[in-house]
Amino acid sequence: MTQQDKHPLCVVSLGGNALIRRGERGTIEEQFSHTRACTSQISGMIRKGWRIVITHGNGPIVGNIVLRNEAAKNTIPPMPLYICDADSEGGIGYMIQQTLYNQLRGIASIVTIITQVVVDVEDGAFSNPTKPIGPFYSAEEAVTLGRTKGWKLIEDSGRGYRRVVPSPRPGRIVEADVIKSLSQQGVIVIAAGGGGIPVRELPGGSLQGVDAVIDKDFSTGLLAREIKAVRLINLTDVDRVYLDYGKPGQRGLNDVRLDEIRGYFQQDHFPAGSMGPKIVAAIEFLEGEGEEVIITSPELVEDAMKGKAGTRITSR
Ligand code: ADP
Ligand code: MG
Repeated sequence: MTQQDKHPLCVVSLGGNALIRRGERGTIEEQFSHTRACTSQISGMIRKGWRIVITHGNGPIVGNIVLRNEAAKNTIPPMPLYICDADSEGGIGYMIQQTLYNQLRGIASIVTIITQVVVDVEDGAFSNPTKPIGPFYSAEEAVTLGRTKGWKLIEDSGRGYRRVVPSPRPGRIVEADVIKSLSQQGVIVIAAGGGGIPVRELPGGSLQGVDAVIDKDFSTGLLAREIKAVRLINLTDVDRVYLDYGKPGQRGLNDVRLDEIRGYFQQDHFPAGSMGPKIVAAIEFLEGEGEEVIITSPELVEDAMKGKAGTRITSR
């Protein structure tokens, strides 16, 4: 019996908005403290023998890296967005890797894979930016920033205004094979951070970075399918998925089947740029070999696995 047969493979995705919280300054102490809280229940799963691949978002963090580049542009040449993506993948990967190391102390090896994801430069996303990054602004600040910096800003799920950047769909995860083989050996792999670094494939096959931010939910769904995970756990800053979210009659979803969630998706309950990609990823995962998707907040994982919290979506 291989390691793979004994222990089910689970992809766990940590939301960028769970690592830097709205209204916080985003200091490294705050980020480490959220990372510890996010991974404490994941460490419990690893102790029980689950093989885990962790993906994570980078929205607030990559937005801050871009702002830092702009603020220093007269002294140090500003870096393109794809390098900011790579920086965020390394920095956040390091935080999660060290936090898990400290929580597990030798129970498992943990490694971060800087992951490149091939996108199609003809993707309509390049002319229609939808992915919120960086801090939240007031409506007045948004108008000023739009005018002075030429940014596009949108209202993000009742939380304030944010800059949006192009977010193409992931086509292929370049490092999928190494992620899969490491996880088969029992290594805890952190991969596709921030959705991975978007790259284009040039004629002849070389890769080149592209200025965009892939929604980590789409890359997570693709990775989960490519490595044949059975369960996908999506941890975000809301306790479950709601219908009519933010409206007076909002209703939480507990246990839903694939066909039901498809129907709610078609009724526009899940906006692009936030809950929409999580639901699309869930649907695509369950249409393949995936068996179960859980969407909840990090502190509710164990309850959600017992059916006592969160939203559970199954193919049957
Ligand atoms: P993450 O960093 O985890 O990807 P996002 O901000 O992209 O977080 O997505 C989670 C957010 O989606 C929630 O905090 C909530 O504000 C928003 N949201 C939008 N629609 C819904 C919905 N139908 N149910 C729950 N949350 C929703
Ligand atoms: Mg998101």
